[in-house]
Amino acid sequence: MYTRDQGKIFCYRSGPIERYPADSFQKHNIFDKAFEELGVTIIGDTFEILRSHGISQEAYGPMLKLLRNQGRFYEYCNEELLLVPSLRSVRRATFIVIKPSREASGGTTSETVQARLRGVPMLVIIGAHGENLCANDSTFMIRMLTDRFVLVFDTEKDVIDFVRKHIRVFRQGRAAVRKLISDMKRANPYINDRPRPLYDACFNGKTVIILGMPGAGKSDQTRMLQDRVGFAYFGSGYELRRLGTKMPPLRKRLGRGKLAPEMLINKFFADHILRLEPFEPIVIDGSPKKLGEAKLLVDFLEYFERIPEVIVLDIPEEAARRRMTLRRNCSACEKSFADEAVKESGICPLCGGAVSGRPENESRVAIEEIFSWYHTHVEAAIKFFEEQGVVTHINGERGKEEVFGDILSVLRK
Ligand SMILES: [Zn+2]
Repeated sequence: MYTRDQGKIFCYRSGPIERYPADSFQKHNIFDKAFEELGVTIIGDTFEILRSHGISQEAYGPMLKLLRNQGRFYEYCNEELLLVPSLRSVRRATFIVIKPSREASGGTTSETVQARLRGVPMLVIIGAHGENLCANDSTFMIRMLTDRFVLVFDTEKDVIDFVRKHIRVFRQGRAAVRKLISDMKRANPYINDRPRPLYDACFNGKTVIILGMPGAGKSDQTRMLQDRVGFAYFGSGYELRRLGTKMPPLRKRLGRGKLAPEMLINKFFADHILRLEPFEPIVIDGSPKKLGEAKLLVDFLEYFERIPEVIVLDIPEEAARRRMTLRRNCSACEKSFADEAVKESGICPLCGGAVSGRPENESRVAIEEIFSWYHTHVEAAIKFFEEQGVVTHINGERGKEEVFGDILSVLRK
């Protein structure tokens, strides 16, 4: 087998399958075409295996889970399609591209898998905001960070660029790639670091809430606090959209501009807060959405001795409506754009992922519903925070950098 494979490049590709299909490689995959051009053959791809068996990932995961829950382990083993062929392919792979799920449990299974992976160079995609890395303390992740032959990348595009740049080395086979990576790590031991350049001890323990009309730039600013300063990130919309990828009824409701049940948001939020250490700052994107939630939030945070600081991004309603219709979101890196060119191309200029409009921004009825909710309920929540003396208004109708500078100076006070 070895001689037949000589000179060929095999990539074993692995990503989360059951939980969030939108996070996985299948939906917005830019590897297929790029790797074909580079002469890289993808082997052991979980979706390819499922497809060849004529079963969708949406059906496969729940089916196995059901068998497990019912204790029907014999049948489970017969239905299990992925593990054995996957592990077999790993042995042939020149390198592995892996995109860990951010909450991968990774205990014993990971140890077993890791034993098989040993010595295979791994290119790990941690996501544009490093969430796979930061929210994941599994042994699997730790092994990936400490293994000599692992390089960490932000996006799928970065991986493709890396392979393209070093394609000659990849053609020489696994040992050559291994040497390339260990040489790079010897030359720069910090190569896998993701420093937050604006981190400052004065941000420790902060709880920042960013509110504003849809299109005011909340997500951009919260992500900037996450990426450049090191705030933990909480976005209820983000969590809901992720959940929506595996729960069609929820996705449908959200698409009509309907709000999610309060309990769900509270659960998401509580989970986030409970994972934080007291010194970790967190930024909250676009929650709470009404007075009751705001009061509950303040009570809840008080218990953990956290005082929220609320920043409201002000933009005129006309501008908000205009931005909403232009708005495109990248499904891979979650960056949003209000740009005619991005809308036309359908491709994220930052990471190469697919961009799409949110369905609730396409329908006139849904848009009206969102704005009417804003004026009655969100504004009431803002008023409540104002009475507590914790609100700063910032003019959001300027460039992202200017707005971000203002937010930083407010938080430094
Ligand atoms: Zn992107």
